[in-house]
Amino acid sequence: MKAAVLKEKGVIEIEEREMPKTGDDDVLVKIEYVGVCGSDLHFYGEGGIGVAKIYEPRVLGHEPVGKVESIGKNVTDLKEGDSVILEPGIGCGHCSFCRTGRYNICPTAVRHFLGNPWTDGVFQEYIAYPYQYVYKIPDDFPKLRGVMIEPYVVVLHAVERSGARYGHSAVILGAGCIGIMTMLALRAHGVGQIFLVDIVGNRLKKAQEFGTVHTINAKMEDPVQKVLEMTAGAGTDLVFETAGSIITQAQTVQYVKKTGMITFVGFSSGQPVAFDISTLMRKEANVTTVFRYANQHRKALDQMIINPIELEKLVSHIYDLKDIKKALDENIRDKDKVIKAVIRI
Ligand SMILES: [Zn+2]
Ligand SMILES: [Zn+2]
Repeated sequence: MKAAVLKEKGVIEIEEREMPKTGDDDVLVKIEYVGVCGSDLHFYGEGGIGVAKIYEPRVLGHEPVGKVESIGKNVTDLKEGDSVILEPGIGCGHCSFCRTGRYNICPTAVRHFLGNPWTDGVFQEYIAYPYQYVYKIPDDFPKLRGVMIEPYVVVLHAVERSGARYGHSAVILGAGCIGIMTMLALRAHGVGQIFLVDIVGNRLKKAQEFGTVHTINAKMEDPVQKVLEMTAGAGTDLVFETAGSIITQAQTVQYVKKTGMITFVGFSSGQPVAFDISTLMRKEANVTTVFRYANQHRKALDQMIINPIELEKLVSHIYDLKDIKKALDENIRDKDKVIKAVIRI
């Protein structure tokens, strides 16, 4: 089978690899489409993200949709031909985090995650995967919507941790794929007044395709002042930082309403942030963070089936596997134009 192998920083090649062996608890999945995530771009372009550095040839990619090719003998609820998505992180199942449902921070799961420095991902034709982490999607579920489920569960997790509920207001910093999906997930949770801030007009325009939202181009106007003006000086109940920039991370304190909640979603490269804790304290406001997600795939699929969202509208570019180098290079170079790139396997 064909696999796109990252040899070292900036060098990715299509190789012929042996077909994976399917264990009794595994499902052999023929991969059809895989989303390109920001993390793939960091591994390809910079050789790593913080302490997670590529140290040997690795297959990237963790946002797949595919079809079941065959099943191991212990698999009962999936069959050949089923359309499926995979949950990329697998916990050990017995540490204190796994046992309390927080398997995303299980030390095993941190390393056992598709397409990171320690585990091969899905920019390849087939994968054998444990059935507990394989989710069936309806046959008529658009494939590209299936690809978007993995990034969507990131925002579902963030929205859940923020405590969002009906009547809340929110500001989202960063209108990339994750920022726009945060807006969609907040709407699904009944949050009406949402401000979306970015410095790229193209992204804000994309967000408008999903219905009315108050967009603020921070290049044209002062976003903090604008939000305060629109909320009678109060700020918003919820603040989501999805840009991963130390500037917007520091700004969150200024947007948050008294007793509100700031949620950090975007990963930054680890520089310290000048964070105004005394203002935060005077507001008795809260801060929370997310690391990937846990227990969200089933919820996301249920929501998409009952109340569909056209997440595939976020896909701006599709490339064939053989053109993966071009896909990654263009994604890095034209960051402002690419909302979401997808690889057709
Ligand atoms: Zn991702
Ligand atoms: Zn564990």
